[in-house]
Amino acid sequence: MIRVQITKKRFLVVEDETDIAELVALHLSDLDAEVTLVNSGPEGLEKALSNSWDVIVLDLRLPGMDGIDVCRNIRNQGINIPIIMLTARSTELDRVLGLEIGADDYMTKPFSALELQARVKALLRRSAIQEHQQVSTADDLAVTTLKYGVLKIDKRRRLVWLNEVSVELTSKEYELLCYFAENPGVAFSRSELLDKVWGYHHQGYEHTVNSHINRLRGKLEKIEGCPQYIQTVWGVGYRFQAPDSETTLAS
Ligand code: CA
Repeated sequence: MIRVQITKKRFLVVEDETDIAELVALHLSDLDAEVTLVNSGPEGLEKALSNSWDVIVLDLRLPGMDGIDVCRNIRNQGINIPIIMLTARSTELDRVLGLEIGADDYMTKPFSALELQARVKALLRRSAIQEHQQVSTADDLAVTTLKYGVLKIDKRRRLVWLNEVSVELTSKEYELLCYFAENPGVAFSRSELLDKVWGYHHQGYEHTVNSHINRLRGKLEKIEGCPQYIQTVWGVGYRFQAPDSETTLAS
């Protein structure tokens, strides 16, 4: 007998404004999910670290500890759960993007229920693909692997290895690396990368690309034997440089 276990998605909402919190919770429950609400920064961090979640919706302005510190703390613990930050004004969004704290998406209040659900679904879809693929056979997985020297990207499972060491990346870092690896040798400007990887245009937020690339490089290069895959092209932006030999591309 095959037992299929269907588990509800689990969302954590950290928001101190009761009206918004309840509205967010309501819209998220429509996605057949179990929603937990907390209303302060420290409580949000504690919950984020002590339970497993599918998505965290995190307000910027919170009592006790702001959303930026909560997000940073979560990432510093090596936790890559998708995080959507909520900001009250676009000037706050500037600050969040400028600091680059490792959130996966950002929304400015007020936002529509549909927009929130669409963003959450997009993040869930990625996790679902990842989980599903983890039970696939090794043969299937070989088809969508990018390999450049010691770097290996398993696109189905969204996993990255360097010298057989697994590299923990946030979802944006992963997408950035994948985009580069699929276009080796091509120099991209920061605004092209914003368009392609972030999916919506953020004119003026090119520094976001820089900080993501710096973090990505940091994670790759701390592993011994990693060549400099992502190179700065002066006056243009960045380019993925594959090592000359043993480059294979299967898809
Ligand atoms: Ca707030």
